[in-house]
Amino acid sequence: MLSSPAALSSANGDPLEVLQRVFGYPSFRGPQEAIVRHVIAGGSGLVLMPTGGGKSLCYQVPALCRPGLAVVISPLIALMQDQVEALQQLGIAAAALHSGLDPDESQKVWRHLNAGQLDLLYVSPERLLNGDLLERLSSSPLALFAIDEAHCVSQWGHDFRPEYRQLDVLARRFAQVPRLALTATADPRTQADIRERLQLLEGEVFVASFDRPNIRYLLRHKQSGNGQLLQFLEEHRAESGIVYARSRSRVERVAAELQAAGFDAIGYHAGMEAEARRQALQRFRLGSGVVVVATIAFGMGIDKPDVRFVAHVDLPKSLEAYYQETGRAGRDGLPAVAWMAHGAADIPQLRRFIDDSGASEEQKRIEHGKLEALIAFSEASGCRRQVLMHHFGEALAEPCNNCDGCLEPQQRSDCRVAAQKALSAVYRTGQRFGAAHVVDVLLGGNTEKIRSLGHDQLGVYGIGKELDRSQWRALLRQLVSLGALVSPAEAKGGLCFGAPELVQPLLRGEQQLALVLPPPAKEQRRRGVAASAGESAVVNDEDPLLRALKAWRREQARLQGVPPYVVFHDRTLVELAGVRPHSLAALAGVSGIGSAKLERYGEALLEVLAAHGAGIHA
Ligand code: ADP
Ligand code: ZN
Repeated sequence: MLSSPAALSSANGDPLEVLQRVFGYPSFRGPQEAIVRHVIAGGSGLVLMPTGGGKSLCYQVPALCRPGLAVVISPLIALMQDQVEALQQLGIAAAALHSGLDPDESQKVWRHLNAGQLDLLYVSPERLLNGDLLERLSSSPLALFAIDEAHCVSQWGHDFRPEYRQLDVLARRFAQVPRLALTATADPRTQADIRERLQLLEGEVFVASFDRPNIRYLLRHKQSGNGQLLQFLEEHRAESGIVYARSRSRVERVAAELQAAGFDAIGYHAGMEAEARRQALQRFRLGSGVVVVATIAFGMGIDKPDVRFVAHVDLPKSLEAYYQETGRAGRDGLPAVAWMAHGAADIPQLRRFIDDSGASEEQKRIEHGKLEALIAFSEASGCRRQVLMHHFGEALAEPCNNCDGCLEPQQRSDCRVAAQKALSAVYRTGQRFGAAHVVDVLLGGNTEKIRSLGHDQLGVYGIGKELDRSQWRALLRQLVSLGALVSPAEAKGGLCFGAPELVQPLLRGEQQLALVLPPPAKEQRRRGVAASAGESAVVNDEDPLLRALKAWRREQARLQGVPPYVVFHDRTLVELAGVRPHSLAALAGVSGIGSAKLERYGEALLEVLAAHGAGIHA
């Protein structure tokens, strides 16, 4: 399937011209252009960009603009295969070397390599470091090295791979070749590690915004049963999506329920046979409208651009995990939904997981802190995206208007008196107990701890029966997020007063305080399934032309044995259905149609369009 060394690789070509002619995109996105020009000029660096931000083009365009072979190091065979197929569709001479190839295929790649016929070579780190490949590369002109998923070099990252550490060899042996490391994992410790390890301390660092504006965040108070989930999915029938659940047994139960409700649902967790897992992944990749119900084991290697929703039926373990998991939705930039049902009942269980994890006390405190941040996010009033971005160190000036906080303003209650009571309880018990005990005191609980400390003798004992436990916990968390209460490391989880200027006005009841509290536990159970507005992504599948284009694409994909999105992304089909071009020249103006795809599919597309009366008004 390798094309001839098509005159695509034009040394010192203009990047914008390459972007338009080869990839069919009108313009670069965010920092792409700066990165591409930097690499073309011979520079190295680190790229931090969220999933779906467009990292691949940052090295693919320079690969075509610089003379010589571009080597892309990637840990994930499935992703490599996808990228190579997609590049070949664009008429680019790309190939991959990894352990999944049979000897014949691998020999063929070597032949092309030796003949200098490749523009891009994808390779796993093992294949690069073992055997003759490095030697071979030393004698070829090289355009660049791209190190994808670069966080794998770091032990702090979540996906450490020892082979990645040996990639420092690139800087030593190929000092003149630009090295571009790319990752979606942004925390500073990992960044520093990558730069040091790959000897990029002098290279540039390019940071794209981590906001994903096309993802709509919708959070729901969890009710018992899966009625809410079914209702949400009902609005997304025939769309591809992922439902994350905490445990294997939950996965199996939810998958069975969805199947019973007529969804094309499959379960996925680490307890399944490798073959069954592979098949599930394959069905998800190739199909449309498949819903995978999964534990977090389903993650790395999902590169499908048209995942329209990610739903959490249980709380994830941190905001970092939430961001990463929801980030698998909408990589193609089209509207997608991150939906989550969260309930106070999840929280004690998650706390127990941490306590029983066997980690060091220090580590447990860090984990508890991360969990608290997640809970605060789920209980935040106002814009979710602002809270999320704030957590990642980015300020979002305006509310996003694309989350439940913005779209469905919640009812706030006047919490002035409740806050006075909570602060008094913290003060009277000596500013050294955690939220659990403070709430016990407010509710007038009859615990051993209360009796032995004599806290049932305090004036604040039992003064807070108007709220329930989860509401008091929520209130305390919000007082923490306001800075009125703090939990310094040496207090080991105990709460004490923050700065007096924050505490005093609240304690004296002089400051207005309107907060969103979770509904009382009893009411949550009674309310049943509540209707909610605006859960449907805005992809209009009703358009018969769009349906026809999708059917045509499915057939093409089937004939070639590639996923449909390798032929064309949804985005391109949506644009085609909207613009309804009636000539090859007009087709070329559609985003995602470059010269190779125009030549290959142009006539066929015009036929589909003509059969649907397109062109009449063009
Ligand atoms: P990442 O690797 O950062 O997760 P990708 O490189 O897979 O993201 O890009 C995500 C999607 O965005 C792909 O479908 C890609 O074709 C598309 N894309 C990237 N850059 C552009 C651009 N400048 N114009 C239009 N589409 C783009
Ligand atoms: Zn918002």
